[in-house]
Amino acid sequence: MPELPEVETIRSGLERELTGQLIASTEILFAKSMPALEQLIADRVVGAKVSALRRRGKVMIVDLDTHYSLMVHLKMTGQLILQRADGVRRGGGHPTKSMVRELPDNSTRVVFNFRGGDRLFFNDQRKFGWIKLLPTAEVEQDSLLTRMGVEPLSTEFTFSNFTAKVARRKSPIKAVLLDQSTVAGLGNIYVDEALHLARIHPLTHGIDLSPTELRRLHQAIITIITRAIELKGTTFRNFRNHKGESGGYFEMARVFGRTNQPCPECSTPIDKLRVAGRGTHICPQCQLLKTRT
Ligand SMILES: [Zn+2]
Repeated sequence: MPELPEVETIRSGLERELTGQLIASTEILFAKSMPALEQLIADRVVGAKVSALRRRGKVMIVDLDTHYSLMVHLKMTGQLILQRADGVRRGGGHPTKSMVRELPDNSTRVVFNFRGGDRLFFNDQRKFGWIKLLPTAEVEQDSLLTRMGVEPLSTEFTFSNFTAKVARRKSPIKAVLLDQSTVAGLGNIYVDEALHLARIHPLTHGIDLSPTELRRLHQAIITIITRAIELKGTTFRNFRNHKGESGGYFEMARVFGRTNQPCPECSTPIDKLRVAGRGTHICPQCQLLKTRT
């Protein structure tokens, strides 16, 4: 599932390509992927110019010059792929063969055709993703965004803000961090990575974390997300190259997807367990589960 760094990589890549471009037509191949009224699409999307691309958590927001915006959530298997008129292809999201196959294919749900001949494909094999059309003025009031915690790389993500969200929670810290109201944009990969860097067992309850552990975790989230964005920056351009598909960060992961491989800190084999219903990777040596006193 694309998390904050993946969505940010797609956003910054598409921003350069799409800002100022005019949408000539749309093709909605699966209605539930973009459940907007045909008339509204004709009035507010077709003929509109892309004015900005923003992001909140894992949600991308495409602002149009018609005072409407498209909110895009890639969920489990979503991809956004730009096929430029000159043949160059760029994009990102859940890695599948669709990234290199001829498009549209059987995972394509929505296509935006631009006046200059570029085409943007919204592919989504599992169909959990969506595109929502709404007035730009209403984006910030959307319930998904109002419930969302602060951005981990913003100045609002202070230690006191983090502590206030986490320190009284009587549930495993992994579940607390997956909850988008704690911090925006974290998912299974980067929660595992941050907990390993902070040397905290994912089953530790928020309420049982010491001030030192809370501080380590707060800093680890910033470090991991910053690094992931830096490394994903190359994925956007190079995803055609097979190595690029899984992304720069994946190659550098501390624990995620590295079951039985040595921990980068102590060489103990990485363990895989289930926490909050998700496959979870830990170092059993670095991330000891404290017994409650
Ligand atoms: Zn270790």
